Amino acid sequence: MFGGGLRPAVSGVKALTDDCVFCKIAAGEIPAKLVYQDPEFVAFSDINAQAPVHLLVIPRKHYPDILAAHKADAALLERVFAVVARLAAEKNLEADGFRLVCNTGRNGGQTVKHLHFHVLGGRFMGWPPG
Ligand code: 5GP
Ligand code: ZN
Repeated sequence: MFGGGLRPAVSGVKALTDDCVFCKIAAGEIPAKLVYQDPEFVAFSDINAQAPVHLLVIPRKHYPDILAAHKADAALLERVFAVVARLAAEKNLEADGFRLVCNTGRNGGQTVKHLHFHVLGGRFMGWPPG
């Protein structure tokens, strides 16, 4: 009744997120050092930490990048920042500061195509980035 076209489209979306390492972390299918989770977000330590504190904050929902997320749900970013602020307090980053990074696309150096925010702290961060 729904025609043959629907099935491949649906399974195509599923295949995208099935291959996504951050979707798997959010689902608990591969291990990560979780520091925060709620129904919408997960935060965990970066596997290749670049600072004494290096966390990744992700929505459980798969968005390829910040532009896609903003298009679908502009208010998401406000909720992300609430998680970042909470982590900054918990990790004692408020006094000395930290860096919040959202690499986007090829020139941004994004390697994992699931929206994520790096929270880097515990040392001085140079500028400009490489
Ligand atoms: P991007 O370069 O896309 O901004 O950052 C991706 C980050 O994800 C990198 O810092 C990388 O170390 C981290 N990463 C990639 N795969 C995994 C993983 O399986 N587990 C964890 N904890 N971090 C990962
Ligand atoms: Zn994903």
